[in-house]
Parts: sequence; C-alpha cells; structure tokens
Amino acid sequence: MYDAKSLKAEEFIADEEVKATLAYADANKENWELIDQIIAKAKERKGLNHREASVLLACENKEKIDQVYELAQQIKKDYYGNRIVLFAPLYLSNYCVNGCVYCPYHAKNKHIARKKLTQEEIRAEVIALQDMGHKRLAIEAGEDPVNNPLEYILDSIKTIYSIKHKNGAIRRVNVNIAATTVENYRKLKEAGIGTYILFQETYNKESYEQLHPTGPKHDYAYHTEAMDRAMEGGIDDVGLGVLFGLEMYRYEFAGLLMHAEHLEAAHGVGPHTISVPRIKRADDIDPSAFDNGIDDEIFAKIIALIRVAVPYTGMIISTRESKACREKVIPLGISQISGGSRTSVGGYVEPEPEEENSAQFDVSDQRPLDEVVHWLMDMGYIPSFCTACYREGRTGDRFMTLCKNMQILNCCHPNALMTLKEYLEDYASPETRELGLKLIDQELEKIPNPKVKTIAYNHIHEIGEGKRDFRF
Ligand code: SAM
Repeated sequence: MYDAKSLKAEEFIADEEVKATLAYADANKENWELIDQIIAKAKERKGLNHREASVLLACENKEKIDQVYELAQQIKKDYYGNRIVLFAPLYLSNYCVNGCVYCPYHAKNKHIARKKLTQEEIRAEVIALQDMGHKRLAIEAGEDPVNNPLEYILDSIKTIYSIKHKNGAIRRVNVNIAATTVENYRKLKEAGIGTYILFQETYNKESYEQLHPTGPKHDYAYHTEAMDRAMEGGIDDVGLGVLFGLEMYRYEFAGLLMHAEHLEAAHGVGPHTISVPRIKRADDIDPSAFDNGIDDEIFAKIIALIRVAVPYTGMIISTRESKACREKVIPLGISQISGGSRTSVGGYVEPEPEEENSAQFDVSDQRPLDEVVHWLMDMGYIPSFCTACYREGRTGDRFMTLCKNMQILNCCHPNALMTLKEYLEDYASPETRELGLKLIDQELEKIPNPKVKTIAYNHIHEIGEGKRDFRF
C-alpha cells in the first residue's frame, strides 16, 4: 500500500509504513554496524530516508548522537554558512470555522477577541513592520470562507507589496493559510507569494481526526494532499511542519520525512522549508492537556536529524521558542527565524491590552528585532533580510541546485551582507550598527569569487550613499 509517488495521502503517508518504520527503528537502535553505516551515508550529504533517520532518532547512545550533532552543525555551515534569514508573521484575521482543539481560534471559542484587519489596517501593520526593518513576512489567517475568502488574502498580498514607506519594502510574502484548491493556489502564485506554508499538525490520521473534530480541516486527505495541489497550481516552494506535542514525536518525524520524500518522488522538488513548532499556551489552550510534549533535548535531536536527513531544506524556528532554546538549536540546522513577532491581529501597531487577547499563542522570545539582530551577530551569525532567490526565479529545484553546488558563498552570502547593510543604515540602534559594520567588513573577505567580491563591496558602499535593493 505504501507508495511515495502516489498522490493519495493514505498511500504516501501509509500508517503501516510509519508503524513498520518505528518497529524497525526499535529493533535496530543498538545495531552499531547499521548505525555507523547510516551516519557514514549522512556524511556523504546525500540525506537519509525516513527509516534510516528514524533509527538514529531511536538510538540513545551518546557517542553516536554526538556524531549526528557534529555532522548537523557541519552541514549547516557548509550549505547555509553563518547566515540566518529573518522574517515576521503578520496575522490578518483570527476568524475561523474549524474546531482544532489545540488552537484558540477554534470556532467554539466565544471568549477570544475576533479581529480581521481592513486593507487600511494592513497598511498600518506593514508600515510598523517596515519601520522595524522587516523585508519578509509570513501572513497567517484562520479558515473562514465568509470572513477570510481567498479574495481577501489576495487583496491583502497586493496591499502588502504596494507599500513603500521611507526606504522600507516587503519583498517576499509567504503564506500560511488553510488547504485550498488548485485554482486558488494558482491565484496565490500569480499574486507573487514566496513559500506556501501549511503545517500538517499530525500525520497520524486517527489523531488528526480527533484533533480536528469539526470544520473543513477535519478532512485528513484534503489537508495532507494540499502540497500536491499547490505544486499543481505552480507553487514550487512549499513549507512543511508538524505541531510537536499532539502525537508521538517519532511518528511525526517519520511522517514528516515521508512527506518530503513524497514531494521529491512525485514532483521532483522537496520541501523548501520545514518548521518545528511546539504547542504553546494560548487563550483557552493549556499545553499540558496534551500528552506528547517533547523536552528541549528531544527537540534538539529532531532538529539535528532533520538537518542531516534533508540537507537542502531550510529549517524555521519561531518565537514560540525562548532565546535560550533558540541559541541551542540554531547551530544544529536552523536557517530562518522570526523576530520581533506579534501573534495578535493588529499587534504591531498597538500591543493588545490583556483583556482583549486575539493572539494565536504566547510568544516566548519577546525581544525587539534590533535586539535579535544584535544577538545573532554576537553569536557570529549574519542576520539576513535577503529575498533574492524567488525574485530571481530561483525557486523549487533551482534553489536546491545553488545549494547543492555550494554556490551559496558567491550568492547568498553577499546578498545577506547587502541586506544587513540596508538594515544597519535604516533601522539599527547605534550599537547594533557599529557591530554590524565590523561584521560586514570581515565577512566580505570570505567571498571566493573576486568579481563577486568587488561588486558586493561596491554595492555596500552605494547602500551607504542611499541606494537600495541590490541582489545577485
Ligand atoms: N488556519 C491555517 C491552517 O489551518 O493551517 C493557518 C495556520 S495557523 C494561523 C498557524 C499554525 O499555528 C497552525 O498550523 C498550528 O500548527 C499553529 N498553532 C495553532 N495553535 C497553536 C498553539 N496553541 N501553540 C503553538 N502553535 C499553534
């Protein structure tokens, strides 16, 4: 029944294959010969399949797992360098007709303040985000065909791209909205979206149906096959994720990798990103009501294993996680983080008073963007506001080719430095600016191609004189 190429959810995420994988992982978690072979394969940077990666996830031998951590860090360095791309979520509307039991937007919640931004309010939110320095957003909305129809999302995208406040601009809008039709995905593609993101929440069909008791999201197959429809609609950058805490993490991990393998097998392009959210406290949601929460140790192991299993897929961590946790996992393979986030509708213009909570979850890392930028540089990372790839048409397998050919240092690296320079000129505090200018000087030296290095050097100089938006 299991068939990675099939377009049917129950065949590409076949429950019996996940269960057989978990049994295989248990049977081999002390099979040192096999484990060494799997680690050796991972070292060749060819990735791992769901069975191999699941054996490593089950393995509890410290020495072997330390090897995985080391390799994850090395792969991150080789393919992503020390850049960390920054983005912010923008909540458009929390009206929702679904019954997701872990999400405070669920239709039965009569307590939460329901809000939907008008185009004028979106304008104000985007100006606030531009004034922080953001160039890349992920828009978020509940599922509600009457309050949040696709036309509303499309209008919102148009509004977002149209706003040019001072030197600000939103250059990439990623979209995290409910599963929809091929025709609607085509419209999103035409509207110029970056990545279409949809979290699976859980790959276990039985749990999925219990966790989504009512509303259109109840349909497991329709939700699970969304990325196939998105690809049919022409979107080739898609972002996967599960909400850790809902189901057994080992099931989710295998499902996530099977989903990635399916996209590669059926469409020739793996996922552009994988997100790793964990359930958080929210309006009427208590995370301790869910039995499958994972601690920071397992969380880090999952991140490292995703890094070695799918080396060419970006990994995202949000402000659901604390500063300390983000510090621990970024080196293990994270390539994008959100910063300065507000998860309430309209929260960038005006933080909400306590009694008016419209937020989707409590944010752990509440630092302003400038502090996040400073912190990243203190740790030796280059905060990047780059959006060049999709604007240059490098989506889907074209981005992966860049990654596979290790051309990142001649392309992403200078782009990161140029966008950081824009940030430093327009938005940074004096301390962040000083630190950033030094970092740019050091990092320019790392560009291998002398021609690229000269161009980047000149553009960085021109940004200082007021020019903007250069890219390779
Ligand atoms: N409504 C859309 C959908 O159905 O996919 C958009 C997604 S929602 C705005 C973004 C994601 O937040 C959800 O997919 C879910 O994984 C996550 N989420 C929901 N409740 C959460 C909670 N209590 N803590 C952390 N993340 C949560």
